[in-house]
Amino acid sequence: MNTKTRYLLDESDLPKFWYNINADMPVPPTPVLNPQTKEPVTPEFLNVLFPMELIQQEVSTERYIEIPEEVREVYKLWRPTPLIRARRLEQALDTPAHIYFKNEGTSAAGSHKPNTAVAQAYYNKKEGVKALTTETGAGQWGSALSLACNFFDLDLEVYMVKISYNQKPYRRVMMEAYGAQAFASPTDRTNFGRSILAEDPDSPGSLGIAISEAVETAVMSNGKKKYSLGSVLNHVLMHQTVVGEETLKQMDLAGEYPDVVIGCVGGGSNYSGLAYPFMRQRLLEDRRTRFVAVEPTATPTLTKGLYAFDYGDAAKMAPIVKMFTLGHRFVPPPIHAGGLRYHGMAPSLCALYEAGYIEAVALHQLPTFEAAILFARSEGIIPAPETAHAIRVAIDEALDAKEKGEKRVILFNFSGHGHFDMTAYQAYLGGELVDYEYPAEAVKEAMKYLPEVAF
Ligand SMILES: *Cc1c(COP(=O)(O)O)cnc(C)c1O
Repeated sequence: MNTKTRYLLDESDLPKFWYNINADMPVPPTPVLNPQTKEPVTPEFLNVLFPMELIQQEVSTERYIEIPEEVREVYKLWRPTPLIRARRLEQALDTPAHIYFKNEGTSAAGSHKPNTAVAQAYYNKKEGVKALTTETGAGQWGSALSLACNFFDLDLEVYMVKISYNQKPYRRVMMEAYGAQAFASPTDRTNFGRSILAEDPDSPGSLGIAISEAVETAVMSNGKKKYSLGSVLNHVLMHQTVVGEETLKQMDLAGEYPDVVIGCVGGGSNYSGLAYPFMRQRLLEDRRTRFVAVEPTATPTLTKGLYAFDYGDAAKMAPIVKMFTLGHRFVPPPIHAGGLRYHGMAPSLCALYEAGYIEAVALHQLPTFEAAILFARSEGIIPAPETAHAIRVAIDEALDAKEKGEKRVILFNFSGHGHFDMTAYQAYLGGELVDYEYPAEAVKEAMKYLPEVAF
């Protein structure tokens, strides 16, 4: 009987390859379309935004892609991350289930996001790019990319969703400490930002709007600046698979294999990062693992969205992809404290969900924070509100296993800590949060604005 709590790998166990699920997808890929022509995108179109190497990764069907030595060197600052058996949580729940979590909150930025930020900064630097632009919601992605740009000596402009810019000033200061510039989006720096402000000077902003501003800035820079996205795209998900590859080895050390693999989903990157190496075994070795993606009822992309081609951003400048979507004009309700606010979802994750390989659950914010508090009091770590969605479902699985008297092995991705989310915790503990269900009529209304495409 294994009695360990932390399963640690040596620096030499750091994976040498990312896993590309596009080599093993059980369903054919859907095309990525140019938002103007609505025809499949050309590398030239994408190259305005991204370096060639990332574009090649985006469309690659090679199963394994080597992690450059320079990227592995930076990964070593915090990787391999620990896999932890949540024994105290198991005891608190009095469950026969075994609960494991992969702690991605141990990176300098506090989440999984540097796994791709470092890789993206590296490839941009290698191709001679001097500056990047990006968007950020709560500030997690902005701070991760600031960290990465600092290591590779790149300038960075971050368009930060205004409501978060005001509610979470410390993430902004963190970005500035790493040397980046942050702006409250909508800004008056871009045509699109000015058009939104003209309509609604008090716009709280949205990820879709901030993406448009960052994309516009890159497009208008005559090749001087490129754009970087923290989730959704194939290459981003692939960079995150370093998480799952490590976890496979660590579950081996624990002498167990997960019955269920859980993660929260915003754009889908942290969940895919953990899940896809296990999905590979499900697809190629016929493992019977269950996969559960968890989202908020306030942003119910998988559970209430439509599976359709939609724009990646509000201004229709980013490529059109087939995904579950709430519509590119989606603005999340301001009463929602739980993060995970993007209107769409990574296409490969959507395809696997549509094909029945992944289940999806939508959660209200109150039970989510309740789970976060139980986790903090048993395991000691305060989770990001996003991560708390995964924790809630892990707890529910453990309680279900208890009811059925099963020894279930539960694995979830601890995508990040919540040290910058104290305003949300304060609101929860002060009894100020209420549950919110995104109305089905709003989804229906948004569908009027989907692009018409021939695919
Ligand atoms: C950004 C973020 C998420 C959601 O993004 P994904 O791309 O779906 O992973 C989840 N958890 C934390 C802590 C984050 O910072």
